[in-house]
Amino acid sequence: MALGKGEGRVQCAGVLLAALLLAPSALFGATQVTPPRLDRPPRVLILYPYDERIAATTSAGEALRRRLLEATGGKIDLFSEFLDLSRFPEAGHVTRLGRYMAEKYAVRRPDVVVALGKESASFISTNREIIAPDAKIVAAGFGNSTSENIDLPDDVIGAFTTFDILKTAEMARGLQPGARHLYIIGGSSEFDRGWLATARSDLYEFSKSYETTYLENLTIEQFIEKAAHVPADSIILALTVFKDQAGRNFIPREAIEKIAATASAPVYGPYQTYIDHGVVGGNTVTFDTLGETVGNLVLDAIAGKQVNDLQAPQTYIVDARQLRRWGLAEKNLPAGTILLYREKGLWEGHWLAVTGAFGVVLMQAGIIAALLLERRRRLEAESRSRLHLLEAVHLNQSATAGALSSSVAHELNQPLSAIRNNAEAASVLLHSDSPDLKLIQQILLDIQADDQRAGDIIGRMRGLLKKRSEIDWQEFDLNDVTSNAVSIIHGEAERRGITLKTKRPTTELPVRADKVHVQQVVLNLATNAMDAMTEAGSDSRILTLATGVVKEKAELCVVDTGNGIPQERLANIFEPFYTTKQAGTGLGLSIARAIVETYGGTISAYNRPEGGAIFRVALPLARTQEEGR
Ligand code: ADP
Repeated sequence: MALGKGEGRVQCAGVLLAALLLAPSALFGATQVTPPRLDRPPRVLILYPYDERIAATTSAGEALRRRLLEATGGKIDLFSEFLDLSRFPEAGHVTRLGRYMAEKYAVRRPDVVVALGKESASFISTNREIIAPDAKIVAAGFGNSTSENIDLPDDVIGAFTTFDILKTAEMARGLQPGARHLYIIGGSSEFDRGWLATARSDLYEFSKSYETTYLENLTIEQFIEKAAHVPADSIILALTVFKDQAGRNFIPREAIEKIAATASAPVYGPYQTYIDHGVVGGNTVTFDTLGETVGNLVLDAIAGKQVNDLQAPQTYIVDARQLRRWGLAEKNLPAGTILLYREKGLWEGHWLAVTGAFGVVLMQAGIIAALLLERRRRLEAESRSRLHLLEAVHLNQSATAGALSSSVAHELNQPLSAIRNNAEAASVLLHSDSPDLKLIQQILLDIQADDQRAGDIIGRMRGLLKKRSEIDWQEFDLNDVTSNAVSIIHGEAERRGITLKTKRPTTELPVRADKVHVQQVVLNLATNAMDAMTEAGSDSRILTLATGVVKEKAELCVVDTGNGIPQERLANIFEPFYTTKQAGTGLGLSIARAIVETYGGTISAYNRPEGGAIFRVALPLARTQEEGR
C-alpha cells in the first residue's frame, strides 16, 4: 500500500477514514504557523479525494462542516472541492486541477486546507504553494503507514487513521466463542492487496487458533460462492474489494453487501460504511468522531493555538439486526459498543404511548362497562314501565268494560230478544196447517243475523278484557278503531240521550300500535265526554268523533258539548288522580297519554269557545298517504 507522491493508484484510501488513529507526533506536531489576525471570517477549504458519492469522505466532511459551523456560529467561509482522483488519476489532470484551483482561490486564499484522504494530502502537498501558500494544512483520514509513505511537509498537521483489523477480529471472537474457522476477504486492487498483507501480519497470532483461509484473487462471483459455503462455525472478516480478479471495480461496501447477503456465517468489517450492508460490525471511528476531531484541530489552527496530537476515540460499532440474524448475544459485545438499529422493547421504546394506550383502554373499558350497566338498567326500567303501563291499561280496560257493561247488556238485549221473538214466530208458523216455508226461511235468516250482531258485541268486549303481557304491534286503520269504539258506546250514548256523530276521511289512516290500546284511548275520551255532558245537564248533547290527517299525522278529535275543562286544570289535565267524579279514579287521561306517547304520538286538550271540550290525539302515519293509495 505504498503510495508515493503523484502516484495514480488512488481510488481506495477513502474507506480508511473510518478507522482513525493519530499519527506519531513527529509527523505533524513540528512547526506551527501563526496566522495573521483576521478581520474577516476564516476560510477553510475542504478537499474530498473522490466524487460526492463516496460516503466515507462525504460523511466525514459533513461532520467536520457541522462542527465548524456550530463552533463559529456560522462565521466561517467553507469551500469544498471534490477532486475526483479515483476516476481522473492522470498526472496531467492533477496538474491542471492545481492550476485551476490556484486561479480560483487567488482572490480568496484559504487560511486552512483540510485534506481528506491520502490522495487529497498528496495533491495539496504538491500544490500548496500555488493554491494556499500561507494556509495550515490538516490532513486526515488515512493510515499512519500510508502517511509515512507520502512525502508530507513537516508543517502539515495530521489526524491520521490506521486500520486495526485485530480489534475487529477480537470482537468477532467474543461474539462467536465456538468458531473454528477464519476467513479473510480481500480484493485484487493494489490497495486491497496492501490490506491483505497488513491483515496477515496483524492477525498472525490470532489466526493460530483457527483454521484460517484467505479468500483472495477471486472474482465477485467466486467470493459470493465461497462465502455461501463456509462452515457455520466461521468468522468472516471483510477487508476491501475495490477490484475483483476479473478487474471489475467496486465500491467496497457494495461488493461486501453482495457477499454478506448469502454468506453462511457472520461477516465483520472495520468500516462504518459497511454497517447497513449486511455486516455485523467492527472496530472503527465514526464519521462524527472523525469530523469532531478534525474540526477541533482546524479551530485550534485558526485560533493560532499550538496544535497537538488529538486522539479520536475508536469505537466498536454493531448492527443489532445482524446480531439477531446470526443469534449472537449482545452481552458478548465489548463494553461501550454502539449498537445501531436496535429495536427497543415495546415498553422501553414506547413506554409513554403504552402507558397512554393502557390508560385509554382502561378508561374505555370503564366507560363501556358503565354504558352496558346503564343500558341494562334502562332496558330493565323500560321493561318494568311497559309492564306497569300494560297493567294499568288492563285495569282501565276492565273499568271501562264495567262502566259500559249495562249499555252492553242493553245492546245485547236487542238481538237476543229479536232472536227470541223470531224463534216464537217461526214456531207458530210451523204449527199451522200450511206453513209458509218462505217466511220461515226469512225468519231463520233474521235469527242468524241477530246472532251475528250479538257475537260481534261480545267479541268487542272480549278484546277490551283481554290481558296483555306484551305489546301486540300491528298496522291498522285509525278509522276502523274509531268505528269499533262507536259500536261499543252507541247504546250507552243512546241511553243518555247523546247524539253520536262521526266524521271520517275517505282514505285510510294507517298507524302502527297495539289496536286494543288505541281503542282504549278512544273509549276513555268518549266516556269522559259523555260524562261531562251528562254532568252539565245540557240539552244539546252531541259527541263527535272526527278523524283525519293534520300535519302528516293521523288525528282523532273527540268533541263534546259539555261544560269544558276548568281553566286552571287545562294545563295538567293529564296528570294522574285528578277527578271530579264520585266513582272516578283520575287515571283514564294519564293512561291515555301514556298509550299515545308509547306509539310516538301526542295528546292535547282544549276548550271550545262555544262550550265543551276537544281532546286531540295525533299518531304517526305508518305510510304516507300516497303509499297507502
Ligand atoms: P276519571 O274519568 O276517572 O275522573 P280521567 O283521567 O279520565 O279520570 O279524567 C279526569 C278528570 O278530567 C275528570 O274527572 C274530569 O273532571 C275531567 N275531564 C275529562 N274529560 C273531560 C271532558 N271531556 N270535559 C270536561 N272535563 C273532563
